[in-house]
Amino acid sequence: MTLPTPDLSDNAALPPALQAGADDGRAASSAEIAERITQSILAQRLAPGTRLGEQALAGLFGVSRTLVREALTRLAARGIVTVSSRRGWFVIEPSRQEARQAFAARRAIELGLLRYAPPLTAQAIGRLQEHVAQEERALAADDAALRSYLLGDFHVCLGECAGNVLLADTLRDLTARTTLIAMRYQSSHQAHASCADHAQIVAALARGDTEQAIALMDAHLGDVEAGLSAATPDDRPDPLRQALRPLGRGN
Ligand SMILES: [Zn+2]
Repeated sequence: MTLPTPDLSDNAALPPALQAGADDGRAASSAEIAERITQSILAQRLAPGTRLGEQALAGLFGVSRTLVREALTRLAARGIVTVSSRRGWFVIEPSRQEARQAFAARRAIELGLLRYAPPLTAQAIGRLQEHVAQEERALAADDAALRSYLLGDFHVCLGECAGNVLLADTLRDLTARTTLIAMRYQSSHQAHASCADHAQIVAALARGDTEQAIALMDAHLGDVEAGLSAATPDDRPDPLRQALRPLGRGN
């Protein structure tokens, strides 16, 4: 795959999400830079359409622009960022149709994963229970970024616990896409409801009740997607309406 080279004069300021805590003293690899960007998306700190300046990222991570471009190229291949030769790199802005496709893909993968994975080990169940406990702590602490990250990461964690690295990686990318969709379309889905759903899914898995876990996951993904649809009467979100909506609704 050949990507156009973005305008190298780009010195756009980076979003605050990526400005803090860039490194621990050693140079980051392109895989780590890609992972950091993905994490920031899952944490809803990087919005759809955010510009990712090569020069700024290189400065932030203390690496060459070549390495940054390598990281962004990885993310482009994974469908998380996009590039134009004139305007540079951007976080994708999924359309409504892409939103539907992303949810359909997640449903196929996550339900299939639960149905065909070997029974989860006690260790895997323990890890999932700890994940849900972390979600609950983030909710209690009202930490929006951590909460958003953990709620998305639950699904990746489930893929990992089922022992399928390929599907876990695929779910990471798809979950990043659906997180961007949720931000674009201002999901009304409540984080508390998601966390409670996760707890029920893990409880069903702990009982060895695969059918119930599948039914709960199906309903959970349906609820999340329905929350988006209900919030989007048309394909063009109204930024002013979003900005002026009453406080305390959604998140
Ligand atoms: Zn979930």
